[in-house]
Amino acid sequence: MNKNNVCIITLGCSKNTVEAETVAGLFVKEGFKIISNVEEADIIVIHTCSFIQDAQKESKYQIQQAGLLKQKNKNLKIFVSGCLAQLLQDKIKKEYPFIDGYVGTGNFDKIVKLIQENKFFFKTKVAGGVTNFKTRVLSTNLPSTYIKISEGCNHKCSYCIIPNIRGSFTSRPVKAIVDEAKFLADSGVKELNIIAQDTTSYGIDIYQKLSLSKLLKEISKINQFKWIRLLYAYPSTINKELLETIYEKENICNYIDIPIQHVSKNVLKNMRRPTNTRQIIESIKNSFPNIILRTSLIVGFPNETDADFKELVAFIKQNYFEHVGIFAYSDQKTAISYKFKNKISKEIIEERLNILATEQFKNVIKNNKNKIGKTFEVLPEFVSKNKVWGRAYFQAPEIDNMIIVSKRDDISLGQFTNIKIKGYKDYDLIAK
Ligand code: SF4
Repeated sequence: MNKNNVCIITLGCSKNTVEAETVAGLFVKEGFKIISNVEEADIIVIHTCSFIQDAQKESKYQIQQAGLLKQKNKNLKIFVSGCLAQLLQDKIKKEYPFIDGYVGTGNFDKIVKLIQENKFFFKTKVAGGVTNFKTRVLSTNLPSTYIKISEGCNHKCSYCIIPNIRGSFTSRPVKAIVDEAKFLADSGVKELNIIAQDTTSYGIDIYQKLSLSKLLKEISKINQFKWIRLLYAYPSTINKELLETIYEKENICNYIDIPIQHVSKNVLKNMRRPTNTRQIIESIKNSFPNIILRTSLIVGFPNETDADFKELVAFIKQNYFEHVGIFAYSDQKTAISYKFKNKISKEIIEERLNILATEQFKNVIKNNKNKIGKTFEVLPEFVSKNKVWGRAYFQAPEIDNMIIVSKRDDISLGQFTNIKIKGYKDYDLIAK
């Protein structure tokens, strides 16, 4: 195949972004050109997501859109990779006969070689993931990115299909991660966000003990990083050593994303998750009150009673979390919970979502008011009209609220700047 223009469309979470950036680097190494305008592409790679139904719909929509482009340009090649390709396997070719190839989650990094060899249809393979990170081409000019420390997951949350798609939990060795972190630091990265399906189980498979604290200490030695941030922590494997490391190391943000999903024991039992999330969060906040917490919650899980939901609302009112992502339960055919009885109606789910979002919004306003008059180091990320949008240490990229500043000469994108908070507008903070 000619060394032509490749457009990679990345859907879903930051884990997919890291994989797509790595594969983009492999294409570049082999003489292909990465472009962002899909209309000019000779090859389109759609790196899909299938975490929830909406994500699957979006992935399918993007495949169809690429198919429309192929009607105009018969030479266009379309490849599908990632979670949806893994989930559907051979069915993807039946659903979308115009695609030229598909690869599973375990062999995405082989795609360049396979395209070069004109092997257009390949089998999917679970586990292994993308491992050759040295070729990564960052998809943004900003000094902020993600690093993936493990692949797969050994938990069996009843609503989740990820372990079937991504395989069992496999940590990367400390050295490989630190080498990649150094490469990113040398490329200008100042904020490193630690990701995996489950970050806090890091090391249990290859070192036979929880080793995230050790890994973070190694990464924090890289002085170029200003902010190292922990995302996707599994509640029951957060230990004192880890919290102390986060607290003590200057360049590790006092911020943890801990998706707890719920607090009611009944619901958590049905979800097959640790039932003591309430105690875990209370204990973290009692011992380390300055650590900012983010979480995700699922509303309307099968069998969630009014009492279960009220318990969740009461917990959220405690304002332990600065940021909360609230999701409606999404039924997935291959998940264990698909077979559960007592599904909650759409109307009740909608109502519960609104109640919970309203309660969390009150917390946000309270927390925003507390920040007025304080000065924070802010990373300006983009400009829109005459405003600059940035983030402080207590705000993760892409998922949290932001700080909006009027455009000024002393603010440049990607350059950390001290900014005083003057007010707030809905979720976002405002500075002059
Ligand atoms: S921890 Fe649970 S929700 Fe997260 S990937 Fe593993 S099984 Fe899925």
